[in-house]
Amino acid sequence: MTNFNRRTLLSGIGALCLGGAANLSTATRATAQTAAAVPNPPVPRLTQSHDFVSVNEVQTNRRAVALTFDDGPHPTHTPILLDILARYNVKATFYVIGRSVQRYPEILRRMVAEGHEVGNHTWTHPTLSRLGNHSFLREIDRTQEIIWRTVGAQPATMRPPYGAITGRQSHMLSDQRNIPTIMWSVDPQDWRRPGSSVVASRMVRGARPGSVILAHDIHGPTVRAIPAAIEGITGQGLGFVTMSQLLGLRRWGPRGLRYVSRADFDYQG
Ligand SMILES: [Zn+2]
Repeated sequence: MTNFNRRTLLSGIGALCLGGAANLSTATRATAQTAAAVPNPPVPRLTQSHDFVSVNEVQTNRRAVALTFDDGPHPTHTPILLDILARYNVKATFYVIGRSVQRYPEILRRMVAEGHEVGNHTWTHPTLSRLGNHSFLREIDRTQEIIWRTVGAQPATMRPPYGAITGRQSHMLSDQRNIPTIMWSVDPQDWRRPGSSVVASRMVRGARPGSVILAHDIHGPTVRAIPAAIEGITGQGLGFVTMSQLLGLRRWGPRGLRYVSRADFDYQG
């Protein structure tokens, strides 16, 4: 197994991207961290370094939020949600469970075909903070691999089930896999099933520039809340971007990951 050091990884990226990376270090609670070594894998890994370890929201002047959905793909609720998102031309980020991807690959292919981003939400949805290093990385790697095999692209970010991850694990994920941990800043608590109107109003009330909004596409009431949530958030003059876009990565996946220029993205210092 060949190891690439950081110099090797950065050699093809260029000065513009390095400048962008430095500029991106203002993400809230993101800790500056560089990838020390990335093992040569059986499937492609992200080959671009970033400065994120863990992110709750992004400080930005851009009037945009990231709408994120965990725990799918679900055979009935996710396609209905995709119909809604298409109607509003809203792009979201789906933190999918690896074994569900294996079961419903066609839903994942539709997600990607319609412009959504896919993130890693582990293979079995365990409490990662209770796992040892090997089991932890296995949960991540298996999920990266099934997504790669299904849609030919790999998640750029990971969200831990229940938000349960140790700081050491997040650093390991950043160091060894070059994947930042994405938490959230707006939680409508939709899994408690408070009803669609409550879910929508919590999302709308919480949304501000740079917000990461958490929801779950395995609950019917959550999916039914999305039209009102989109309309309310849009009504505040906010738009929707995917998680990579909010972070300033041009797109997710194994190719074309590029930091946007400062002109495209105006971060507060
Ligand atoms: Zn989950």
